Amino acid sequence: MLRPILRFGDSLLAQPARPVEAITPEVETLIDDMIETMYAAPGIGLAATQIGVPLRIFVVDLSVGRDPSALHVMVNPEFVERDGMQLEEEGCLSVPGFTATVARPKRVVVKGLNRQGDEYTIEGTGLLARALQHEVDHLNGCLFVDRLRGISRDLIVRKIRKLSKAGKW
Ligand SMILES: [Zn+2]
Repeated sequence: MLRPILRFGDSLLAQPARPVEAITPEVETLIDDMIETMYAAPGIGLAATQIGVPLRIFVVDLSVGRDPSALHVMVNPEFVERDGMQLEEEGCLSVPGFTATVARPKRVVVKGLNRQGDEYTIEGTGLLARALQHEVDHLNGCLFVDRLRGISRDLIVRKIRKLSKAGKW
């Protein structure tokens, strides 16, 4: 089932998500819905926070459904390694129409559980590392806009406020 994606300004996006205690049938349905919603958007990643569910789950697929082996479902993720630095353009399904250059570590290793509840580790560099960090940020109530400083953040926030007032957000 497709779920509506919350947009910047919704207070639920700023709330840290809590760990998943067990992979229940409800959690499995949630994961299916997240994958479907990510592909429909279309996007390369989605965190449960973005559909208003405060649980530590994200899905990432750089192939957007074209390559089944590219789909990662991660429950209760934690960074075990982070190194290097990359500066690239980044966007978000919760901030449609906006992108900005965000500094992120170049390589990360994330550990958690897969949808079967088994221990699962993902190592990512470049865009995958960026996506993994972007999604963990969501679970901590942080959007890429919150990682920007000064004028680039103000510019986006001001434009969104204007859209909001016009009923276009
Ligand atoms: Zn996002």
